[in-house]
Amino acid sequence: MTSIRPDLDSLPAYVPGRAVPGAIKLASNEVPIPPPAAVLAAIAEAAAGGNRYPDLAAVALTERLATELGVGTERIAVGCGSVSLCQQLVQISCRETTDEVMFAWRSFEAYPIVTQIGNARAVTIPLDGDFRHDLDAMAAAVTPNTRLIFVCSPNNPTGTVVHRAEFERFLAAVGPDVLVALDEAYFEYVMDPEAVDGTRLLEAHPNLVVLRTFSKAYRLAGLRVGYAVTAPDVATALRKVCVPFSISSVAQAGAIAALDHASELLSACKEVVGERVRVREALVAAGYTVPATQANFVWLALGERTADFARHCGEHKVIVRPFHPDGVRVTVSSPEENDRLLEAVLAFAP
Ligand SMILES: *Cc1c(COP(=O)(O)O)cnc(C)c1O
Repeated sequence: MTSIRPDLDSLPAYVPGRAVPGAIKLASNEVPIPPPAAVLAAIAEAAAGGNRYPDLAAVALTERLATELGVGTERIAVGCGSVSLCQQLVQISCRETTDEVMFAWRSFEAYPIVTQIGNARAVTIPLDGDFRHDLDAMAAAVTPNTRLIFVCSPNNPTGTVVHRAEFERFLAAVGPDVLVALDEAYFEYVMDPEAVDGTRLLEAHPNLVVLRTFSKAYRLAGLRVGYAVTAPDVATALRKVCVPFSISSVAQAGAIAALDHASELLSACKEVVGERVRVREALVAAGYTVPATQANFVWLALGERTADFARHCGEHKVIVRPFHPDGVRVTVSSPEENDRLLEAVLAFAP
């Protein structure tokens, strides 16, 4: 087609988690139980006003998040999922085709996509031998063209966290001119006391953007709502490039109701925290290389056996997420679903 950008042909396609009848889906890091009844009621009530446009500025949700986080509303930008905010970050920081967006690899598969959509150049820095961000190498790779750096903690898909001390060293080395987005999509699952919490570093670092989401621990992946906490001028820019009305009234109401029921939702995370230890230990005992995880998924570093392993699990009606030729990411779910995973895995010759 004549006027379509030819470079889109090479755009890496986002591979959605597959749903197969009778199979359990451990491919998208969702929680397998629906939102609490009270959250569903708030969603239904908002749906009844579906003839009206949503609040463009998501004022009530923004105010609520500001209260929860103890920051001013001017520091918050709500987005249609934090994936959308990733794309907005490229839009607000990159203009020339020489502009660079840096991220570790392997990391979240949306980063290269939003970078290319934004016409910027992706610079990838390999994870270290422990499947962690190599922040020294990333800082050393900053050039005058670097505009934005994504740091994912816990890292999707390897589950490893960035520690506060190393992140502060990294911010100091990068300096104030480059936007640094700390993607904390799995923040609620983090138990490591040394792990970074980006919201504590915002005062000292106006170039820091903390991304969080309602899709994981808050069980609203289908509603599409996430947020950025950052310096006021960055938040203002993010709001400017947001697709108008893309955060639906249902999403806004659902997110507020989820915050009302945070203790119920977050206590369910504790079961996953226990299960991720059990699942990892069983996998390690079976001979797999699995880094310790602070998220609701585990990473099996399977290398060239990745595709075979994923096919084998599929035949056992367990859908996992392969990233050939690096490894397989598997969501840690309920004890029953995790048992089905382990059963399938033990039938695979490692
Ligand atoms: C799941 C996930 C998100 C959240 O995406 P939403 O658009 O909010 O659903 C963001 N970053 C990472 C690394 C993720 O794994």
